[in-house]
Amino acid sequence: MMKKATAEEAVAVTSVFWDIKMFPVPPGFDARRVGPCIKRLLEKYGYFGPLTINAVGLLTDVHDDILGALSSSGINTYYGPFGASADIMWLFYEWTQKNPPPTNILAICDRTGLRPTREFNIFGPFSYSSPRYFRQEDAINWISLILAESEAVGEDTCSETGEYFCSICYRYDHPGQGFESFKRHLSSLEHTRKKLALLHPRREMFEEDPTIVRFQPEASFFVFGFNIDF
Ligand SMILES: [Zn+2]
Repeated sequence: MMKKATAEEAVAVTSVFWDIKMFPVPPGFDARRVGPCIKRLLEKYGYFGPLTINAVGLLTDVHDDILGALSSSGINTYYGPFGASADIMWLFYEWTQKNPPPTNILAICDRTGLRPTREFNIFGPFSYSSPRYFRQEDAINWISLILAESEAVGEDTCSETGEYFCSICYRYDHPGQGFESFKRHLSSLEHTRKKLALLHPRREMFEEDPTIVRFQPEASFFVFGFNIDF
């Protein structure tokens, strides 16, 4: 069960950090409705402050139709090369610099990616099966939760457009530039070169054309010992 908001937390800004690969959009589900489902879930537990939802991870592994639908419903999309945990920790740090307490953070992600703190209200969408490690049943619980909320939300969607960010190139696209522009960036030579330099620095030294390199950047060489209570 999710943590209920106090009177102060009820009106504070809320940011959602969502690992879109670990906790995927339910198969066949209209991705434009994920945002309204998360908003309704938060309101059920008393969170009514301004809301920002950030989908984080290796976005190139997520279907373009899903990313486009999320973006068109006001969800920010962040490309991160390390999966999500390390990228979310970095985003969390940036967020806390810009949003002093009281703020709320809904962490739909591996909790080892966030620094523990008593200043910020950090909580999960439900009680995870393990206090530290991701388990497949958590992803199943997430899908069940979204499907249950969607029955109450109905066909509601949001017409806002989200922002786009590539953490390798430190490139920010404002909503007006559109999802297609961001998609082109993720397949560009400039982005590919920087990705290779970051994830495979020795390999890049010997490759003239990085576009011929085939790899799956399932990087997991960052280990964080942080733990927070959910
Ligand atoms: Zn990039």
